[in-house]
Amino acid sequence: MARIVMKFGGTSMAGIDRIRNVANRVKHEVELGNEVAVVVSAMSGDTDRLVNFCREASPLYDPREYDVVVASGEQVTSGLLAITLQSMGVKARSWMGWQLPIRTSDAHASARIQTINSDAIGAAMASGEVAVIPGFQGLTEDDRITTLGRGGSDTSAVAVAAAMKADRCDIYTDVDGVYTTDPRIVPKARKLAKVTYEEMLELASVGAKVLQTRSVGLAMKEKVRVQVLSSFDQPTGNPTPGTMIVGEDELEGSTMERQLITGIAYDKKETKVTLTAVPDRPGAVAAIFSPLADANINVDMIVQNVAHDTGSTDVTFTVPSDEIARSLDTLERERSAIGYDKLIHDANVAKISVVGVGMRSHAGVASKMFSTLADRKINVLAITTSEIKVSVLIHEDYTELAVRALHTAYGLDAEDAA
Ligand code: ADP
Ligand code: ASP
Ligand code: MG
Repeated sequence: MARIVMKFGGTSMAGIDRIRNVANRVKHEVELGNEVAVVVSAMSGDTDRLVNFCREASPLYDPREYDVVVASGEQVTSGLLAITLQSMGVKARSWMGWQLPIRTSDAHASARIQTINSDAIGAAMASGEVAVIPGFQGLTEDDRITTLGRGGSDTSAVAVAAAMKADRCDIYTDVDGVYTTDPRIVPKARKLAKVTYEEMLELASVGAKVLQTRSVGLAMKEKVRVQVLSSFDQPTGNPTPGTMIVGEDELEGSTMERQLITGIAYDKKETKVTLTAVPDRPGAVAAIFSPLADANINVDMIVQNVAHDTGSTDVTFTVPSDEIARSLDTLERERSAIGYDKLIHDANVAKISVVGVGMRSHAGVASKMFSTLADRKINVLAITTSEIKVSVLIHEDYTELAVRALHTAYGLDAEDAA
């Protein structure tokens, strides 16, 4: 008997037929004698719809009320899954984030899980009842509802698995594993049987949305065994093996054959912001980024241009597109303190990143990226690097072209692909 956490994403929960399919899978694990907790997402598209309602109501919405609205999608699917399981003769009940509770920080819309009281779920599971838990939601110390940032149900699942000391955390989604890049835009992408926590963390953080970044960080810290699988395979029998997220030590043996580059990711959800004619003096960048940090806005790529003769410089950076209204508002309020001339923004950009631990010991990864993009006449607007990643910002129209070209250039294309 094992204790397992199964997580089902938005596409897997979209409609009663699919929820029935999910329930069949859960039933199968229960019949194998396992103790099961299930973490579910809202139906795909529902969270977007709820987010848009908030924006329509007010672009500078109160994030506490935003959380109340967007957390509701998962409440619906939890209840529906519990009903469906019961109708199949499987004992089940839902547990909202506030009922357990799942305590989080008060960073609304991107809260971090602090503790999960697992007493209720433990007792339910031990009595053979399936605990159905909505992903994405939690509760602050002062009892306000929070959400964990888009894609946050993955993190809820890993956190529940850690709290329950589960043997496995199976993440069921609409692809059958982690690929060298998004298989929806590169048909030649290859499925990875195993990927290290570190590589997955980096891939997720630069846009491979198959797992939310925080879920990978948490799995690494808490040593949770995470597996990514398809929910659209046959529910019983021998499911297609997915991708295991493993420690570096578990790759031993195959390390020699490892690719220099693990994968390529893209992210169209950032907006480029430029402040022109910022005074070129100490404290100028702090005057820009401190207020953004205080507003809980994550700045990603930063480029500071060479100073003009006038003693000023242009500063360009990216922020999540979701946060653009708040970012512009913050920067406009700080205009006299920062002393810039114009505030320009452009949402039509994409960040393309190549990731691989092999980069540590190999030169030339970045230059290959730049020459591949130059051959396709793709202009690079900003660059950032880390030990195992190189990212560039380009015009979003070239996203697919850039990812496919890089996938081929780094030798990642599947051998049997046409
Ligand atoms: P869920 O709703 O199940 O959480 P998501 O849409 O959040 O699913 O994540 C699954 C999607 O991630 C896939 O449909 C795929 O398009 C995308 N994706 C991006 N990069 C990758 C990758 N490297 N490997 C697999 N899927 C990826
Ligand atoms: N429903 C939330 C979202 O769409 C959480 C998730 O699906 O993981 O972001
Ligand atoms: Mg997801």
